[in-house]
Amino acid sequence: MNIDELIAIREAVSRLCATFPPEYWRETDRERRYPAEFVRALTAAGYLSCLIPEEYGGSGLGLTAAAAILEEIQASGANGAACHAQMYIMGTLLRHGNAAQKAQYLPGIAQGKLRLQAFGVTEPTAGTDTTSIRTMAVKQGDKYIVNGQKVWTSRAEHSDLMLLLARTTARDQVKKRTEGMSVFLVDMKAAVGRGLTIRPIRTMINHATTEVFFENLEVPAANLLGDEGKGFRYILDGMNAERILIGAECIGDARWFIAKATQYAKERSVFGRPIGQNQGVQFPIARAYMASEAAALMVARAAARYEAGQSAGKEANMAKQLAAEASWQAADMCLQTHGGYGFAEEYDIERKFRETRLYQIAPISTNLVLSYLAEHVLGLPRSY
Ligand SMILES: Cc1cc2nc3c(=O)[nH]c(=O)nc-3n(C[C@H](O)[C@H](O)[C@H](O)COP(=O)(O)OP(=O)(O)OC[C@H]3O[C@@H](n4cnc5c(N)ncnc54)[C@H](O)[C@@H]3O)c2cc1C
Repeated sequence: MNIDELIAIREAVSRLCATFPPEYWRETDRERRYPAEFVRALTAAGYLSCLIPEEYGGSGLGLTAAAAILEEIQASGANGAACHAQMYIMGTLLRHGNAAQKAQYLPGIAQGKLRLQAFGVTEPTAGTDTTSIRTMAVKQGDKYIVNGQKVWTSRAEHSDLMLLLARTTARDQVKKRTEGMSVFLVDMKAAVGRGLTIRPIRTMINHATTEVFFENLEVPAANLLGDEGKGFRYILDGMNAERILIGAECIGDARWFIAKATQYAKERSVFGRPIGQNQGVQFPIARAYMASEAAALMVARAAARYEAGQSAGKEANMAKQLAAEASWQAADMCLQTHGGYGFAEEYDIERKFRETRLYQIAPISTNLVLSYLAEHVLGLPRSY
């Protein structure tokens, strides 16, 4: 994709987002209502299928385009978290599903008729230590019987399918703790009330997140993706794309905060002059700008490596972390620049402030990124 095409996509996304004014986001946030209209509009415009190859009905534009789309959404003041996972969760199906599974699901996902937005990995007792998950899928004939619990399963109520990671062999019966886990596609509509219960969790942001309970849920064996026992590796494969895209969202957030603060610093007059004339106000804005531009370079580099089929684990992790830190720095600066008004709902800063904070915790927390770099890139001794 050339630069002109990328600019055209950015402009088109920006125009679409402009039809959802700040009042829309305030209201959905206040009511913790799912922004279904916004998700429908993005789906209809085809943006959520940009990672699905054309042979399955997607646009096949690739990760740089996907990152640009999500960045523009966030930079407009919107929140793409309502549907960003529709872009990338399907990557596990695309890479590890068999021909029949891909033919069955991918065209529907590309059209948005099938929403694959729920990703069931985190569990209450395992936390970040994914290999300690306890949800078990036991094979019985042509199906698996699933028992267990997930937490923080976002968008479960707004998804037709869930990508589920479960143990198929207990942890104490495998040689390596990363073995014995498998990935399934769960038909949520068929499962609710027949072994699957979804309970929303009210959080500090409007994120449609839930906890889900499995009680003798039957999942057809045909819904196992790839080989039994190799699910952990398949999930890891998908995480680089997710981290790069979340990084792009953080860059979009940072742009929004910096634009908002710059504008306000020019307009707000105290002591007879614009507050932005004081270097004590200017410099934090300039610092936040510098940090976000540097992080954007890492996001772009990670996306380019991923797209070229090169290893991108190191870059994806650094991109996500640097961008999440830059967006938080910009958020804090923007609030400070606005003084008391930053706390008023109508300025949208407090909402974006809450929303962007998430990305230092999910999909992976900062310490775990640092530990990955320390151990796997720099070769320092394992700490856990
Ligand atoms: C709004 C929201 C949406 C989410 N959506 C999803 C989703 O859709 N699907 C999904 O599967 N998960 C989802 N998550 C879960 C998210 O990925 C986890 O919250 C995150 O990975 C951290 O896990 P934890 O909350 O269990 O923290 P814990 O693992 O309990 O960690 C707590 C703290 O301790 C630190 N810590 C833990 N171990 C170490 C160590 N060895 N060294 C240093 N520090 C350590 C962590 O960095 C963290 O700061 C979501 C979470 C939130 C809040």
